[in-house]
Amino acid sequence: CGIVGIIGKSKVAPLLVEGLRRLEYRGYDSAGLATLVNGHIDRRRARGKLINLEKLLVEQPMEGVIGLGHTRWATHGIPNETNAHPHATKYAAVVHNGIIENYLDLRAELTAAGHVFESETDTEAVVQLISHYLAEGASPEEATAKMLKRVEGAFALGIIFAGRSDLMIAARRGSPLAIGYGDGEMYLGSDALALAPLTQKISYLADGDWAVLTCDSVSIRDAHGNPVVREVKQTAFSG
Ligand code: GLU
Repeated sequence: CGIVGIIGKSKVAPLLVEGLRRLEYRGYDSAGLATLVNGHIDRRRARGKLINLEKLLVEQPMEGVIGLGHTRWATHGIPNETNAHPHATKYAAVVHNGIIENYLDLRAELTAAGHVFESETDTEAVVQLISHYLAEGASPEEATAKMLKRVEGAFALGIIFAGRSDLMIAARRGSPLAIGYGDGEMYLGSDALALAPLTQKISYLADGDWAVLTCDSVSIRDAHGNPVVREVKQTAFSG
């Protein structure tokens, strides 16, 4: 339902929660964060309101200067902690808005290949598929491009990769996704409002686009894999 992502230089967990708070108006049943700590994926997820996630973060504080946040409105799998996003393997973590229509086929194929699913969601097929390609030796960009050729449905995705604190990938088909430009930091948001405290410089991905974000660059490709430039706009929102 709601997505926030930050690749930056300060501790992202509190900033991600603040972004998710700005997306609360959309409604949700659970919330979660994933960051990279010493190259490994760390996660905190909680059912119910953001306050539950915040309480968990007080008990178990979260490090990391790159991370993803999500508020979930369940479509596939009941609202509980296991089904809450981000979904992750040891290779990657994913947040997703929308529906992966062919997830049962992908799930059957990946399960047959030896991958073990932990949730009931359609989303987990995305992270398992990416991880399958990463395990074969694909780069994050290659694994994402291969995954995008296989998934059907509507989605906005944010992806981080174990051992790669230097990049974050965003992709959209059907569901909206915005990129925010900061000073030595880049952001991802399912709408510009989520990013208002962080930046007023936004570009919206066009349908089918996917983007590689680093601390100081954004490179966007269209649905055919061709590099494209999307206009950077000044939003009217303020922090
Ligand atoms: N279909 C996904 C799920 O049920 C994402 C739902 C959403 O957009 O929050 O987990």
